[in-house]
Amino acid sequence: MAEFDVDLFVIGGGSGGVRAARIAAGHGARVMVAEEYRMGGTCVIRGCVPKKLLVYGSHIRHEIEDAAGFGWTIPHATFDWPTLIANKDKEIARLEAAYTANVEKSGARIVKTRAVFEDPHTLRLATGEAIRSNYVLIATGGAPNHGAMIPGIEHVISSNEAFHLAELPKRIVIQGGGYIALEFACIFAGFGSDVTVIYRGDNILRGFDEDVRSHVRTEMEKEGITVLTGCTVAKVDKHGKEFTTHLSNGSSIASDQVMFAIGRHPNVANMGLEKAGVAISPKNGGIAVDHFSQTSVPNIYAIGDVTHRLNLTPVAIREGHAFADTVFGKRPVEVDHVNIPTAVFSQPEIGTVGLTEAQARAQFRHVDIYKANFKPLKATMSGRDTRILMKLVVDGESDRVLGCHIVGDTAAEIVQAVAIAVKMKATKADFDATMALHPTAAEELVTMRTPTARHVREAAAE
Ligand code: FAD
Ligand code: NDP
Repeated sequence: MAEFDVDLFVIGGGSGGVRAARIAAGHGARVMVAEEYRMGGTCVIRGCVPKKLLVYGSHIRHEIEDAAGFGWTIPHATFDWPTLIANKDKEIARLEAAYTANVEKSGARIVKTRAVFEDPHTLRLATGEAIRSNYVLIATGGAPNHGAMIPGIEHVISSNEAFHLAELPKRIVIQGGGYIALEFACIFAGFGSDVTVIYRGDNILRGFDEDVRSHVRTEMEKEGITVLTGCTVAKVDKHGKEFTTHLSNGSSIASDQVMFAIGRHPNVANMGLEKAGVAISPKNGGIAVDHFSQTSVPNIYAIGDVTHRLNLTPVAIREGHAFADTVFGKRPVEVDHVNIPTAVFSQPEIGTVGLTEAQARAQFRHVDIYKANFKPLKATMSGRDTRILMKLVVDGESDRVLGCHIVGDTAAEIVQAVAIAVKMKATKADFDATMALHPTAAEELVTMRTPTARHVREAAAE
């Protein structure tokens, strides 16, 4: 009997696990993938994809409102939430089937069950079966945080439930000031809900460029979203179908739903990690890994959200691919986590890559800022009260573009392309040498000639 049943056992059929399984199978490995919920994982089932579909749906409200200035008379438009959710579910089911088929086509075998470690080479399935594998990849992703056990926490939903609400809440309170809170705040507001965002700090989107933070908040407030800062949710009461959210500042808000989007934690609990000897990073609570995603146990690797490095789908996919090439393709590949572009699909959306102004000023002696804040051409006719922000952060000594930050429609699409230039270490002179594409909003990126601010730090006295 062979020592191992398979060469690779992947725990988790999400973005990273699926990519790793397919590539490893392509390299000739015998692969088994365990998925306890639905193939595709967070991104496909209850993350990026359904979220973006809801963003598209809610943004249509803007298109309808903007049409009048262009001569259109649109009879009173109505919106049906159950139709949207049913159509979204249909598309997600189609994608789930496609993910399943693609894994199977690669030669990997899927087992629809939870898997936990018995020892570094043995996985116990919920069916009771034990599988022996030479290598194991932990790709179990993450799950929403609930925060402190405040009274009434059982009434609070997370993004998981937000995708399946039976009806559109007329009023919703959302705690959090990060990606998910703002994306859902704008989704619900777009569909006509009355939205209140509760954030504990002084402004939303901590870690983003300061100009982005204030610009997005202003734009969201113009759309009627209430943003309350410097407070937290202390208690939630339920009366029939209605909730009262009590805040730490003593005030309270009535609503039809209360949602928390206060971060996510890596799925490491009850996995038998201690039996396998896999160490957890004391820094972030994720599985500790090296540059090749190898854990403290040589035959066990971990990728994606479970390592709590950068919790984004393309990162999980890249890490999964790199793992498979390294271990089964005889080609060691390290993932470069520098200058990863990211977007918040708020409305207007944020696209960003590279350093913020504050980060650049902390690292570089001379930083030039190029900033434009303008009304989009479309708004001149639609009458919409909105502005776009474009910002370049430049190293004044080498002329290299260190960061690009955009708030406005299609910011994510623009920044995906700009990220190539930033990754290639393009200079501001390279941007300037590029002909503008007119009329676009993005042409500002190659036409901003004079710095709006110049920060030069004096050299420390010898
Ligand atoms: P996952 O995709 O979470 O997959 C892990 C899988 O493992 C799950 O299917 C789970 O059921 C399974 N599993 C867990 N434990 C076990 C076990 N013991 N046995 C068997 N199976 C198990 N990222 C972006 O880049 N862009 C976006 O727009 C974006 N939007 C998002 C919106 C939301 C609401 C959320 C929550 C996340 C979003 N993300 C986005 C983040 C993105 O979804 C994750 O970074 C990505 O899915 C991580 O992939 P993964 O493979 O690490 O884990
Ligand atoms: P984020 O880390 O983006 O934001 C969490 C927010 O909750 C922050 O504002 C944080 O405040 C606040 N918070 C944290 N703990 C508490 C607490 N105990 N009480 C009150 N507030 C709290 O997490 P999300 O949940 O929004 O999203 C999780 C991750 O998923 C993201 O970081 C991202 O990696 C990924 N994602 C990516 C998306 C995309 O690419 N478009 C979309 C959605 C998710 P503070 O800043 O003060 O710590």
